[in-house]
Amino acid sequence: MDERVGRMQFQLTLRRRGIADQGVLRAMDEVPREHFIGAELLPSAYSDHALPIPCGQTISQPYVVAYMTEQLVLLPHHRVLEIGTGSGYQAAILSRLVRTVVTIERYRTLGVQARARLKTLGYDNIEVRVGDGLLGAPDRAPFDRIIVTAAAETIPEALAGQLAEGGIMLLPLGEHQGVQQLVKLTRTPEGTVRQDLLAVRFVPLLPGQAREL
Ligand code: SAH
Repeated sequence: MDERVGRMQFQLTLRRRGIADQGVLRAMDEVPREHFIGAELLPSAYSDHALPIPCGQTISQPYVVAYMTEQLVLLPHHRVLEIGTGSGYQAAILSRLVRTVVTIERYRTLGVQARARLKTLGYDNIEVRVGDGLLGAPDRAPFDRIIVTAAAETIPEALAGQLAEGGIMLLPLGEHQGVQQLVKLTRTPEGTVRQDLLAVRFVPLLPGQAREL
């Protein structure tokens, strides 16, 4: 399919599925998804599917990226932490809407590739770290928003502790081998409020930096 047509359909699909935030739609329009996938997948760059990336991981489905971004209710001054850099696509989308993004990936190969790709594309308010995202980034905490893009079986307490007052954390919560619930945690003065949003399927959130590359 002609890429221009593909990109128009991409926007229409997001709107039809209920994405309404103009900032999110603009960010989804601006960030070229074809730069985040392998050459052999180029024909699918603007289809609404998750796609394979190196190290057995996936770049999320565009609708889910847009939905999670919308649910974060981002403001321009926000400082955001992402766990699970993968291709860097979600980080790139976030970077269009907030002041800074710190993103952590447990595979060195993916982290290094994403860092180079984001630099080439000129997204200079993103810091890519290689390491165990379960530990968060204590030296940069607290964060206004935290987004976990791999499935957690329990709420990672270290991350919850790095959320600012009034902050929002989004994570897929549930068994690794199945469907998870996308959960939104809002930190209020009275405690943490939990909202279950959507059934999703993510690759697992695993402890530690990957020993393989
Ligand atoms: N947000 C990505 C998609 C991520 S797939 C994108 O836009 O392309 C989930 C990623 O989380 C995988 O790359 C996986 O290696 C990573 N991951 C899983 N557990 C992790 C952990 N504890 N710390 C950091 N990254 C982790």
